[in-house]
Amino acid sequence: MGIFAFSAPDPCNAFITRIPEAEYGDGKLAGVSIAVKDNISTKGIPTTCGSKILEGYIPPYDAHVVELLRAEGAAIVGKTNMDEFGMGTTTENSAYGPTLNPADRERVPGGSSGGSAAAVASGMVAMALGTDTGGSIRCPAAFCGIVGMKPTYGRVSRYGLVAYANSLEQIGPMAANVPDISLLLQVLTCHDPRDSTSITAPYTHTPDPDIHGLKVGVPEEYFGKGVDPRVASIVWEGISLLERLGAEIITCRMPSMDYALAAYYVTCMSEASSNLARFDGVRYGPPADPKKQWHESFQERRRDGFGKEVRRRVMLGTFALSSGYYGKYYAKAQSARRNVAADFSRLFSEVDVLAGPTMPTIAFRVGEKSDPLSMYLSDILTVPANLAGVPAISVPCGKVDGMPVGLQIMGRWCADERVIDVAYAFEEGVSA
Ligand code: GLN
Repeated sequence: MGIFAFSAPDPCNAFITRIPEAEYGDGKLAGVSIAVKDNISTKGIPTTCGSKILEGYIPPYDAHVVELLRAEGAAIVGKTNMDEFGMGTTTENSAYGPTLNPADRERVPGGSSGGSAAAVASGMVAMALGTDTGGSIRCPAAFCGIVGMKPTYGRVSRYGLVAYANSLEQIGPMAANVPDISLLLQVLTCHDPRDSTSITAPYTHTPDPDIHGLKVGVPEEYFGKGVDPRVASIVWEGISLLERLGAEIITCRMPSMDYALAAYYVTCMSEASSNLARFDGVRYGPPADPKKQWHESFQERRRDGFGKEVRRRVMLGTFALSSGYYGKYYAKAQSARRNVAADFSRLFSEVDVLAGPTMPTIAFRVGEKSDPLSMYLSDILTVPANLAGVPAISVPCGKVDGMPVGLQIMGRWCADERVIDVAYAFEEGVSA
């Protein structure tokens, strides 16, 4: 037992709330400083989701993952900045100001778990928790030069996570290297009856870097239109390193990629419109005029409490679910989603893992993605793993223009162990 004095400066605005004297205990993570994304409930510590609408909210309970961290002795030193409710790829959509990239403060750290990534990359904390609905752990890990993993859907309990799009999202580990990711995942995977999608598949693995004979599929679409050629070439070099380490490289096709992004955005906005309906602004958030009629003040509180991107998604999601349009948008998105899952199962009957870039480009400049569609397009390489529920990791793979690039490894459903082994082999190979 002890107290972790957390006084590191935060020039990148990685934190929304800091705990200057964090308690820790005994266990696998005794005294390890961990930052938690601010959409994960922490008893007695404000949880804002990067939104004004939750201003003043202090959860009365811990999320399952936070209970597990505390039980293993971690020092939870604060709550990290994020795009409001997880909606974004830059951590600029936060009511608490943008987070900046520690490698270049004129650039974004990626999102939506940008605060967690910046906190790890700048050495403020040893490890962090993020959440990944469509890439929000892997994108900032790639942009900041750290490791981040989205585990198999269901392997980590979402109890206590403020939902954005339930059918897609997972809580996952972010750290400076693969063994730390593995250690944190050992702590986080535990069946939880309070999350109905929780599966019983504890991760007890120790990373093994031997990848001789492993089949690595490389989908051509991961090097297609929109991928910066400099990023493509450095990731190809990374893939050749896997080959030198004994893996067999097989190029393949993922035709469902044509519709993956549209399927993702229709699905996540639909789920968001339903999830966010609970925020009426009555107990938390900016106060409303008590003399106004209920429906007026409700509208006002939601208008003032939510940022622009959240309002856009709630409206589009409500539209996609409305009668008369449901079949055209939501139902169609679900059939495109099934095609993505079918592509993965076909490919995973031929190869062990899939590899490609995590993001099509390096970190954007602050303010560069002012048009929402161009920001959405940058999620094209990360959303397939969420649509199919399979595990995926981003591991640092060199630099372009001084900015980090991530190599993404995706695996079969519940083969998180294998994904970690390949990432570990790569990490060891790079430093050899
Ligand atoms: N950028 C994607 C979105 O805005 C992914 C976000 C996430 O994974 N939370 O929905």
